[in-house]
Amino acid sequence: MTDPKRIPLAGVIGSPVSHSKSPRVFRHWLRRYGMPGYYIPMDISSDDLEDALSSLPKLGFVGVNVTIPHKEHVLSIADLVSDRAALIGSANTLIFRDDGKLYADNTDGYGFLENLKQGAPDWNAPDGPAAVLGSGGAARAVIASLIDAGATEIRLTNRTKTRSEALQREFGTKVKVHDWVQAGNMLEGARTVVNATSLGMVGKPEMRVPLDGLSKEAVVTDLVYAPLETALLAHAKSIGCQTVDGLGMLLYQAAPGFERWFGMKPEVDEKLREAILL
Ligand code: NAP
Repeated sequence: MTDPKRIPLAGVIGSPVSHSKSPRVFRHWLRRYGMPGYYIPMDISSDDLEDALSSLPKLGFVGVNVTIPHKEHVLSIADLVSDRAALIGSANTLIFRDDGKLYADNTDGYGFLENLKQGAPDWNAPDGPAAVLGSGGAARAVIASLIDAGATEIRLTNRTKTRSEALQREFGTKVKVHDWVQAGNMLEGARTVVNATSLGMVGKPEMRVPLDGLSKEAVVTDLVYAPLETALLAHAKSIGCQTVDGLGMLLYQAAPGFERWFGMKPEVDEKLREAILL
């Protein structure tokens, strides 16, 4: 049993991990709610991952977030894997349970949907086709959550088409693969548009997909949050679309871990956004 007198410890494991914004998010909540606890970034190599995960609970850790490059590897180490982590094929939240079992979950899709619902309250997945650009790890979480939310058609494109085709095989016929060179065409009639590539991020190339097909009925969201307003979001806003930036996804995906480890559902609000953007 976790000793109730012990100060709960949590953290984020990855390599490198210094770029992670999670420590800021958790420290903000711990301070804000005046709760005892610490959240620590830990650079752990792949070779040490298994040893680290068996030692951390003994040191008083109640769980950890997981970032690159361990998100897939932890699934093979966990004793229990949530359905959504299994579906997405990676985990970002680990819980060290009182019975000694390691439980792996993925809250990226949850964060994506909560952010959309908060930023575009009238948005409904079944309202029309979704168009998703990208087929990496984040796109998997986006597709899983869109299907879960009732999307009936997900148009998918990626520079490397084989990655989109692999996702289509996994997620089924609701996913329709489009060629990257014709990505602009799949925006026509789409009610949800998601950039799940790294294009448009500071230091990365701009997104060059033609946006003429975008209609003002579409809700447009970008997973990239640096800059907060990408060229895609700026264009979408200029034609009257509702737009939702990617920072909220990062904040919402952290909330289930905080609630589980520190026993309180934290708020994602403007104060938190300001603390992270400082
Ligand atoms: P990933 O697995 O490395 O996938 C990267 C994606 O970007 C792939 O689809 C890749 O296409 C595409 N891409 C990269 N460079 C490109 C280029 N020059 N031209 C066309 N496509 C290119 O990364 P990820 O984990 O899915 O993350 C994707 C983005 O989402 C990143 O910017 C990440 O920071 C962001 N993200 C944000 C949140 C959040 O909370 N807001 C959460 C997760 C991820 P190929 O397959 O052809 O390489």
